[in-house]
Amino acid sequence: MNDRDAPSSHHRWDHLASDVLNGHALNAAEAQSILNCPDVELPALLAATYRVRHHFWGNEVQLYSLRNAKSGLCPEDCGYCSQSKVSDAEIPKYRWNDEATLLENARIAAENKSRTYCIVASGRGPTDREVEHVAGVVRKIKATYPLNVCCCLGLLTAGQAQTLAAAGVDRVNHNLNTSERYYPEICSTHTYADRVDTLRVVREAGMELCSGGIVGMGERQSDLVELALSLRELKVESIPVNFLHPIDGTPLEKRDDLNPRYCLKALCLFRLTNPESEIRIAGGRELQLRWLQPQGLYAANSLFVSDYLTTKGQTPEDDYRMIEDLGFVITGPGPETAKAKAALQSAGQEAINAS
Ligand code: SF4
Repeated sequence: MNDRDAPSSHHRWDHLASDVLNGHALNAAEAQSILNCPDVELPALLAATYRVRHHFWGNEVQLYSLRNAKSGLCPEDCGYCSQSKVSDAEIPKYRWNDEATLLENARIAAENKSRTYCIVASGRGPTDREVEHVAGVVRKIKATYPLNVCCCLGLLTAGQAQTLAAAGVDRVNHNLNTSERYYPEICSTHTYADRVDTLRVVREAGMELCSGGIVGMGERQSDLVELALSLRELKVESIPVNFLHPIDGTPLEKRDDLNPRYCLKALCLFRLTNPESEIRIAGGRELQLRWLQPQGLYAANSLFVSDYLTTKGQTPEDDYRMIEDLGFVITGPGPETAKAKAALQSAGQEAINAS
């Protein structure tokens, strides 16, 4: 294609966005075409994707804060992770944070304008006692701060998921990370099916699902497409899109597959295949999107503020400035999950019926 043809591409992406807004679920070939978008068409793709983002999320940006409640010492072998047993990365290693530490970090999350506080722990999965510890802290957080709470604790049993739900946990994060086909290439100690099972028990316990992936681990484009379509099938409410941050000492330390334009196309892929879901630009944002970070928010509607699990992010002030410069606004404090919205709506309906 000649560069002079670029303006006509506008219509192609615009039609695709219109189809999505009319309820069409993209098939694998359509989804793959987004990743194959020529760079010269990227502005048109972003403009079209922004129509979909704006339709469902306006110009709002939801902020999330992470707390690594238990770091390192993990017996699993996920190739991208600095906390795994096969990683030599120099990271802080500690057992569970106590209640005071988790509450203090909830306070900081609220102060940082976060809507959601994510409690994350390394490991294959928690013990029942560890789940009780988290549940106790979550009850106190919910009684004190206007925060949604998301827990990322590894593989969960049905009973553990029910304990978390009863404590008021809004969501559980458990990333599928990549396609079922590519999963054995990045982890041998648990399977893709194990991860899907955890998503299932979380859903059955009545919590929302947060599940996403990591772009740039050596997967094919078709793996990324498969992941996006699997998340759609699972009706995942929240999709964190990570870009591999190759950390020294991990098996993937030498991978260098990404450029910022491809990262934007990946964000468009997740938005257009999962139009109503929250799409969050997650780990690796600063490293891989670099100067194109703001454009990412034309597809995504959410960011992590401050640091990631074992890597540094840019300052919250830089994020606020970026959002303001785009003319976007930070979503106010929670809790207002889909569940809360539904409860409010049904309360409103009851009031109407009673009047
Ligand atoms: S299970 Fe979690 S903490 Fe452990 S290696 Fe995998 S991603 Fe890292």
